[in-house]
Amino acid sequence: MIEGIGAAAGVAIGKAFVLPSWEWDLPDQKMDTVDLAKEFERLYEGIRTSKSEIQFIKDEFREMVGVEESSIFDAHLAILEDPEFMNEISGIIQRQYKAAEVAVKEAIDHFVTMFDLLDDEYMKERAIDIKDVGNRLLKHLLGAPEVTLPNDTQPYILVAKELSPSQSAHLNPSYVLGIVTMNGGKTSHSAIMARALGIPLVSGLESNLNLPVQTGDMMVVDGELGRVYVNPEKSVTDHYIILRDEQRRRKEQLQVLASVEAVTKDGTMLKLAANISSVKELEAALKHGAQGVGLFRTEFLYMDRKSAPDEEEQYQVYRLITEKAGNHSVVIRTLDIGGDKPLDYLELPEEENPFLGYRAIRISLDWKELFKTQLTAILRASAMGNIKVMYPMISSVEEVRQADALLKEAMADLDARGLAYNPNIQRGIMIEVPAAAMIADLLAAETDFFSIGTNDLVQYVLAVDRMNEQIAHMYHPYHPAVLRMLRMIAQAAHQAGIDVSVCGEMAGDERSVPLWLELGIHQLSMSPQSLLRVKHRVLNTTASEAMTIARACFGMSTGAAIEDKLTAANISCTPAGPGRP
Ligand code: PEP
Ligand code: MG
Repeated sequence: MIEGIGAAAGVAIGKAFVLPSWEWDLPDQKMDTVDLAKEFERLYEGIRTSKSEIQFIKDEFREMVGVEESSIFDAHLAILEDPEFMNEISGIIQRQYKAAEVAVKEAIDHFVTMFDLLDDEYMKERAIDIKDVGNRLLKHLLGAPEVTLPNDTQPYILVAKELSPSQSAHLNPSYVLGIVTMNGGKTSHSAIMARALGIPLVSGLESNLNLPVQTGDMMVVDGELGRVYVNPEKSVTDHYIILRDEQRRRKEQLQVLASVEAVTKDGTMLKLAANISSVKELEAALKHGAQGVGLFRTEFLYMDRKSAPDEEEQYQVYRLITEKAGNHSVVIRTLDIGGDKPLDYLELPEEENPFLGYRAIRISLDWKELFKTQLTAILRASAMGNIKVMYPMISSVEEVRQADALLKEAMADLDARGLAYNPNIQRGIMIEVPAAAMIADLLAAETDFFSIGTNDLVQYVLAVDRMNEQIAHMYHPYHPAVLRMLRMIAQAAHQAGIDVSVCGEMAGDERSVPLWLELGIHQLSMSPQSLLRVKHRVLNTTASEAMTIARACFGMSTGAAIEDKLTAANISCTPAGPGRP
């Protein structure tokens, strides 16, 4: 067994196809000065052809998985226009009299080595992009054939040193059962694409690989645990065949619930919406029966790029999501950057305590133009459907007022430009900081709805960093302090007559259903993969019984006791039901 990083969950069993890497053997002879003009002409021709090829791949890929994922290829097009990269190539041709392909190869090596040396995930990803674009250019300069994936064979497990975005764009889930890469991590482009396509992926195997894999070898890939088996024993394959089939069966069983409404046996209805960060995720969520989007984490539109998306780009994404959501509502959360989500181009300072620092609304209220651009795009899209706007990490009434003032300015801008928007757009806030919970009554007077972000609320209430593995056992969503705070928030919302929903991970834990029923929370938003599990729990619940269980939990003094009670109730309530898919 070889261990790597589990980058896209699922089990794949099949034969390996080892992708040959692009390796070039280039002569290093010098050119005649008279040939220089010819070399530049070849270079420009190669750039033109590469550009149209990348544009073609981008269009194809957009059709397949969506706008955001295909924007990776904008980065590739930008490399072919990048003055630094181009000057490096021209300089080598002009000053060292080297052939265009040699200059391109040396320029790639120069930048890749430079970026690889930086201990920065983002720059390492850029190194892969440069290699990918450079190889495409080299291929044209040398007239070499494309290294392609077979699409006319039996399904296979793809093994590659690293998978470039252009290669990932050609992945066809009908043929590619799973992927194993020597390089890369969870945030690499190929990981994002594999997850979007539902293909199990284990990456980052390089340091652990001691067995060379050959095309045709039998393999098992466990994308959850990050394990790869080459020519495994029969017992291993048998175990994974059972696991794979069980996962498929559970998924299929739950899938029949997609079109059913989430109503308890005694008639209490819960609305189950999805947390998404891309159009592709919304598509998956709708397949799982999501009733709209309860949380669109827009910061992912801003990450892994050199500058912020402009108004038009954001508008197109928000519009598309609204269109796809149909009659359902879409809650667009404004930029929640900082903490564990950095943005290179904002050059945010290193902080001792990033989660207690410059984050979310605090940044937006400082970077007013950046924030207003986003608000304007959201407003424009609000003319097309049921969009609500939500501010993250609110801790005071002033923050809500300042954000609203900028929203008004954005509306005035649109009036001046004669563009349509919904002037009555609902404005809500995340309740995820204890201060906000304590003044929930005051905040309720300022906003149209609350959404409780339990991921942050738990970390702030318990003073347990949600990223710190050492104290992960203390991160307890069922701690009595958390439950009391949830009750305070719900009561304040009910008294003010505003909607309150939950959008943290707790909403996707089916054991929590009794708590929501007791607290009068009728809307939950969760990761698309949790929707059917939670719905299954709701369908098998009697609200009156669940409320008795929840009341008992509110009277308990430890998180462990509460969790045990909810777990036991879950088991007794859904004995024959399918488990976690
Ligand atoms: C939360 O904090 O619960 C939440 C939903 O937001 P995020 O996980 O994006 O911080
Ligand atoms: Mg949060």
